[in-house]
Amino acid sequence: MKQGPDLRRIEDNMRTGTLAAHQFLGTDRRALADIILQDQLLLEQLGLTNQALAERMRFFTDQAAEKGFKVVDKRFQVEREEHKGTIPCPFADNFNAAKSITKVLNLQTGGEVIWSDLNIHLIEEHGFYEGYGSPFRVDPTAYADVLEIKKDK
Ligand SMILES: [Zn+2]
Repeated sequence: MKQGPDLRRIEDNMRTGTLAAHQFLGTDRRALADIILQDQLLLEQLGLTNQALAERMRFFTDQAAEKGFKVVDKRFQVEREEHKGTIPCPFADNFNAAKSITKVLNLQTGGEVIWSDLNIHLIEEHGFYEGYGSPFRVDPTAYADVLEIKKDK
């Protein structure tokens, strides 16, 4: 897919610019526009939306915000690691997220997923789940499974 100059500039900044250390694109060689498009197609197949994923993730992050640890609905063990500092949204919209991390273990299935506060913003606002091989890649299938996100009817 062709991508406009804005997305190309953002991609360059993620790959080799000031944001390269964050490895948003991991080892993924696809163009940023293709990464976003292909995850949207995957979501369609799953019957899910960016909003459904982001809302469910925010729900768990909020649950653990106060004490850093909580068991939710007797089936999700939620942990929050607070990290100092912020990280800027790579889409250059002046959004900065805390570096804090949320971990959820599904006690029924043993599945575990992890995300940063920025992941929620990236999904909600940009439909960006990060590239393959990225330390914070959110695989929509795996996250929907562990977090038991139901299809929008
Ligand atoms: Zn943003």
